[in-house]
Amino acid sequence: MARITEAAGLTGWVRNQSGTVRLVLEGPVEVVDRFMKRLESELPPRASLEGVHVLSREFVKPSQVSEMFTILDSASDRSMRISIPADLAICPQCMKEVLSPSSRFYRYPFTTCTDCGPRYTVVETMPYDRERTALRDFPLCSKCMEEYTDPGNRRFHAESIACPVCGPELAWRGQEGNLISAEDPLEEARKAISEGAVVAVKGLGGFLLVADASNREVLKKLRKRKNRPAKPFAVMASNLSVLKKQCLVSAEEEELLSSPEAPIVVLRTADNPSLPLDLLAPGLNNLGVMLPTTPLHLLLAESTGDDSTGSFDFLLMTSGNRGGEPVCTSNEEALTRLKGIADFFLLHNRRINLRNDDSLAVVNHSGVQIWRRARGYAPNAVSLSFPLKKTVLAMGAELKNTICLGFDNEAVLSPHTGDLETPEALDGLEQVVKNFPEYFGKAPDTIVTDLHPDMHSTRLGMRLAAELGVPLLQVQHHYAHALAIMCEHRLKEAVALVFDGTGLGTDGTIWGGELLHVRETEWTRLGTLAPAILPGGDAAVLRPAIQLIARFWQQGLAVDKRWQRRLGVTSEELRLWKTQFERRINCYTTHAAG
Ligand SMILES: [Zn+2]
Ligand SMILES: [Zn+2]
Repeated sequence: MARITEAAGLTGWVRNQSGTVRLVLEGPVEVVDRFMKRLESELPPRASLEGVHVLSREFVKPSQVSEMFTILDSASDRSMRISIPADLAICPQCMKEVLSPSSRFYRYPFTTCTDCGPRYTVVETMPYDRERTALRDFPLCSKCMEEYTDPGNRRFHAESIACPVCGPELAWRGQEGNLISAEDPLEEARKAISEGAVVAVKGLGGFLLVADASNREVLKKLRKRKNRPAKPFAVMASNLSVLKKQCLVSAEEEELLSSPEAPIVVLRTADNPSLPLDLLAPGLNNLGVMLPTTPLHLLLAESTGDDSTGSFDFLLMTSGNRGGEPVCTSNEEALTRLKGIADFFLLHNRRINLRNDDSLAVVNHSGVQIWRRARGYAPNAVSLSFPLKKTVLAMGAELKNTICLGFDNEAVLSPHTGDLETPEALDGLEQVVKNFPEYFGKAPDTIVTDLHPDMHSTRLGMRLAAELGVPLLQVQHHYAHALAIMCEHRLKEAVALVFDGTGLGTDGTIWGGELLHVRETEWTRLGTLAPAILPGGDAAVLRPAIQLIARFWQQGLAVDKRWQRRLGVTSEELRLWKTQFERRINCYTTHAAG
């Protein structure tokens, strides 16, 4: 703001005020007017203008006009609107500097600027300023200070600015967490990866497990250690040209991969790819791929300096967790929880305050569809077509949990918290439930949960409502899905087909494939899929053969030896399920689509 204001020949001041920018312009009327007209087009690429409110216009004598333009300290005024910026992938200019031997940011894994770098993940309190982020641990050196305070510099007020002299640094540790003295931890990590090691790397919003994606042995080893026999792994391609040899990439997919949000994009694989797809994505003809999103990611792939290890075209990058648990964020946590999975640890000392996984997206006939909304997207708000009268905290469901804080015209979704099946995941939920309202300076006056009393998010919501003394609203699962889509597409009425396996219905049974008629505040269930019996309850979800067999029995059909063989079911299992089915022992009835 200071840069473009000064360029226009205006004076005055600017200040961050809890998520808004307050600007006082001083100068001739026509210059101010011209500036206001051109403001939007003058903004840097990552800035967007949501709206301008002119608070007042005053005429002053030329002698009262300030001589220069100043940036005032941020004001923390809780009554003003706050927005927490999302983390952004490394920009092309920083990428160039990181790879250029003459730059002071050469090979520096924490290079950032005003257009890229960590935001949400390093925030401690609002407003977003360096002193209220994890970067406050690193006082700026004179060169960084110069760039930070120079309105003409592209790192002017880049809150996460850091360099090899003053910023965070890497550390290299062994399997047992033992510190290994290394002149260049990056080089050690690349060497270990090339030799078939699994390296736990502290990334932007959490730990990653990194390995050579072309090495069959390490892929097998990692699947075994993570107890993940078949779920697909995501990979990082070092650049678009190597990626295009393995996957089909449309123009829209290319744009998405290279965007500042830079999600993992699910791509169709090309004919005869050289990557071991049978181990990366068994049984699939697509692969989740991202491009380097931070300088560290880039430097892990590219061979730089005197490093004798060649460049990696593809690195496997999977979340640094044990099955079902959330991704580790602190060094201590990773050293304990990833012990036995990782052969080495590449750590750093920039704290991750809030977990944020890689986002996952796909481009289909209707455009970009986000499957996991996290890094790059969260916590950007979804704007509502109507103002909310209250501040509402919605707790989300049990699986793939995300919370939502609604106030004014905004619905702010947290990054994906994950499945709430482990104590670690619950801790993660409790943390975000506490932090979100605090950051936005909005105390919830209504709590919303799912109708299902056994979901961890429901229980936490009930406790919270009681603690805060605010009303609790419980919403049926499928109805909530329909409402969310209606909000997104600004519909006031809809006939909605909602296919979701296990939402508790208003009649106490488990609903699944539902046809609903929804108006703003009322809804009716028009129809549902014919009920099916699931012997063994959740066991039938993990073993789809049970579901098929139970449907045979429901229709009065027998399951012969041929079917038994094709479904890989033993006679012993069949007998057990049959007894359960006939006596309705531990059987659920479901209306789910599948
Ligand atoms: Zn940058
Ligand atoms: Zn510095």
